[in-house]
Amino acid sequence: MTGTSSSEPLWVRDVAPGAGASGRVSAGQALRIIDLEGQQVADLVAFSAEDPGEHLDVTYTTFAAESWQLGKDSVFVTNRMRPIWTMTEDTCGAHYAGGGFCSRELNALFGVDQPGCYETILDELRHLDAPTTGLNPASCFNVFMNFPYGAEGELKVQESLSRPGDIVELRAEMDLLWAVSVCHMPGPCNGPHPTPMRFELYG
Ligand SMILES: [Zn+2]
Repeated sequence: MTGTSSSEPLWVRDVAPGAGASGRVSAGQALRIIDLEGQQVADLVAFSAEDPGEHLDVTYTTFAAESWQLGKDSVFVTNRMRPIWTMTEDTCGAHYAGGGFCSRELNALFGVDQPGCYETILDELRHLDAPTTGLNPASCFNVFMNFPYGAEGELKVQESLSRPGDIVELRAEMDLLWAVSVCHMPGPCNGPHPTPMRFELYG
């Protein structure tokens, strides 16, 4: 299902850096993530609506895809190897599928005392009244994050390659719960400074 831009979204929310959003999505509906100003990362998790122990799993997804570069037409699977999202649009092409989210503990590594995407996502799941059983680093896909694997083994976060207006669209392959954090990690991850993102639901 592509071309949803021609229809009106059912739901729109602009989210500031350090804040989150979440919701329930039925199979066939699509979540669109829009980087309004560019170079901004979103940490996205998803769980089966029927069993929160079944979660998006980027480790199994990259295994099944035989690639660590997920993009348009990539099928994301759960820890039970069932499709949960299909990426139906991607105007950026650079994301990180190695798992993980920033957290208060991770930020401390860089000498910064602030909560991270992990804490934001936890808050969102509490708002949804959803169990956090399946929340773990493998359940997180880092949209627009530029964290390339170097030929010599190096792995260093770089500025996001996303430009203003870039979008990712994910079609739900099952009824699911999702939560997202607009990252406000300092350093190169989110460009010169973190900026807001827009989330839209279609279907
Ligand atoms: Zn983050």
